[in-house]
Amino acid sequence: MDAVDLIRTKRDGGRLSDEQIRWLMQGYVKGEIPDEQVSALLMAIVWRGMAPDELATWTAEIIASGERLDLSEVGRPTVDKHSTGGVGDKVSLVLTPLVAACGVAMPQLSGRGLGHTGGTLDKMESIPGWRALLSPEEFMRALREVGGVICAAGPGLAPADRKLYALRDVTGTVESIPLIAGSIMSKKIAEGTESLVLDVKVGSGAFMKNLDDARRLAETMVGLGNAHGVRTAALLTDMDTPLGRSAGNAVEVAEALEVLGGGGPADLVEITLALAREMLALAGIDADPAALLADGTALAKWRDVVKAQGGDAGAALPVAAERVVVPAPRSGFLTRLDAYQVGVAAWRLGAGRARKEDAVSLTAGVVWHARPGDEVAEGQPLLELHVDDPSRVPRAQEALVGAYDIGPEPPQPRPLVIERIA
Ligand code: URA
Repeated sequence: MDAVDLIRTKRDGGRLSDEQIRWLMQGYVKGEIPDEQVSALLMAIVWRGMAPDELATWTAEIIASGERLDLSEVGRPTVDKHSTGGVGDKVSLVLTPLVAACGVAMPQLSGRGLGHTGGTLDKMESIPGWRALLSPEEFMRALREVGGVICAAGPGLAPADRKLYALRDVTGTVESIPLIAGSIMSKKIAEGTESLVLDVKVGSGAFMKNLDDARRLAETMVGLGNAHGVRTAALLTDMDTPLGRSAGNAVEVAEALEVLGGGGPADLVEITLALAREMLALAGIDADPAALLADGTALAKWRDVVKAQGGDAGAALPVAAERVVVPAPRSGFLTRLDAYQVGVAAWRLGAGRARKEDAVSLTAGVVWHARPGDEVAEGQPLLELHVDDPSRVPRAQEALVGAYDIGPEPPQPRPLVIERIA
């Protein structure tokens, strides 16, 4: 076979055969097909898309490039959640101990933040002693004994995706529904979970800016999961407004702890419970997650989850050296707070990274004191920038220009959970 034939076929709107996809994936992982040819093919896929059966083979070949974990010895139903990424999305931190406390095992293999969206592992690393890297034995033990684990995927899981994603990142080929769906689902299927709930974010702070694209992505991923024997459902949820009250690392852990303690922002509680209920329904478990948040059971499970990975759940979280307050410029109702701009501000303060190799600041971030619909008085703190390096503040402030509106009337309430796809 010749890579140029595959590129031409896709460029002209044709379909790649199963054999061609297998040959390409195996050759690319072995280093026999160079990046430039795979880049050209990826760009053709961005433009031309993929037929459903073509994407099914593409995804199956990514899975086949590595191992598929067998979680059958865990002894509980396994169910995971994947979010397509947003600003202030600390749901995994609450959801993992919460559903574990309800009797399922949640193998939450997570990533690091890139660009304006945060990563669960970066957040968890603000807990003193906590380790993202576990041996396969530690991973299985935590799942069996605690029921929840939040860790990095091992190198054996979907190695073809790791290589493809790095290439897509530098060739402008991330934004493609089939490529995103194949990338996410190959990792989740390889991880070995029996069921999966997808939180597909829609809005300015999300990958998918409009509802039609988000719906197509969700339907594609649900189809791939079910075709591979993973019971899969998706919720489309709002990401025009950032979630909760903070974006960063330690600041988000602190907020997750409030929710685990039975409090915390209403939107974060609502989305966490909606996802928990979907997960429990797929796993066939009849439990009331709201009750376990209220009575401290989920918080106790959080301590177990953290301890199993070397973390000290009782230790103080790090805090930033400086806080810079952005006051409300006038009185009225907050009618808009833009998720993307808040995410960029947190990133510029140091909470996120521009390149995969960069370190993040554990303490940097943005805290907002009002959400759309809240009444604010002129001069009251609206946003708070947490930073160790004050030279970062002006660029973060620039990102926030036009990030919010204050008007005489409260905005129409908008649903947080927009649609369910199964
Ligand atoms: N996250 C992934 O894992 N893959 C993508 O392609 C996009 C987001």
